[in-house]
Amino acid sequence: MQRLDSCPACGAGRGAEIFTDNDLTGNRTLPEALWRSEYTLCGNCGLIYAAWRQETSVATPYYDLFPELEHRSYGVYPPPEGYRNGKLSVARWIAGILEANGLLDEGRSLLHIRCDFGSLAQELAKTSPGIKITGGDYFESNVRFARESGNLEDVYLLDPAGIETLPGKQFDIVVVNHMFTHAIDLQSDLKACLAMLKPGGTMFVYNEIDFMETVNPGGRYFRLAPVNNYHKQLFTPGSIRRFFEHAGLELRSAERRKNTLSFILTRREGAAGKPATIPTAELSLLKARLERWGGYRRSWIRSAMRLKPVRAAYRRMAKDPAPLPY
Ligand SMILES: [Zn+2]
Repeated sequence: MQRLDSCPACGAGRGAEIFTDNDLTGNRTLPEALWRSEYTLCGNCGLIYAAWRQETSVATPYYDLFPELEHRSYGVYPPPEGYRNGKLSVARWIAGILEANGLLDEGRSLLHIRCDFGSLAQELAKTSPGIKITGGDYFESNVRFARESGNLEDVYLLDPAGIETLPGKQFDIVVVNHMFTHAIDLQSDLKACLAMLKPGGTMFVYNEIDFMETVNPGGRYFRLAPVNNYHKQLFTPGSIRRFFEHAGLELRSAERRKNTLSFILTRREGAAGKPATIPTAELSLLKARLERWGGYRRSWIRSAMRLKPVRAAYRRMAKDPAPLPY
């Protein structure tokens, strides 16, 4: 494992640890290098991040456990209908935003990072067939389905260690799906996205990111459940904006659909990043909510862990004599 000595978004010195647990810490028979995270609040930009995280060199075996630990429909071929319908619903929302912002002129090229089975390509084929789409996804099942269903011919498998640039390729639009929350090396992934953007191009980011609301008792998206171990950055609407500004990106528009936020971003050549400083009132509010959330959660977390569907995976791994490579 590695321990970050500075904030991965703004580079400020190490912040204050705010909670240790995540959804893998319920069973301490798992190796420490799988569950350790120590979520830390950056006092400068307000990002919450896992100070401890896996080295990128073990990202592949770490992510091999993802479908089992997350207990979702990832990695299943063919992708189940419920999963497909959910993704297609999000794709319609994204296509609408891209269209409304005049980004779908014929002949434009689009890269979709974490493209699932080609849901956005399937949607755009109906509304904007002149767009040339390339996609990447972590799951072979999705890549195979995208190809075989004809949704997306130009599709490749993503490396869990980080976003790789596609040599010699740049796109008018780079669509980034829930990547910055998962990034093991946040700056490296951002750099790769920007390297694949044509000068004057647009980055479209969408993410389930509203951690400010996750820790707001009484709020619509309040959650007592522990944080997903695979989430290395827990963004709020404020901290993700500051992350973009610090990187020299200009925020053109932001939209919300349930607990997913989307951002249209552009970058001027040579644009300097802005200092990322959280307003005092926002920091106080976030700290107050985190403290209250922690109080609720402590009394609840043990029973929640017993209900987690990952318990079978815990039992299996606890019995597995082979050391896990983390
Ligand atoms: Zn920071």
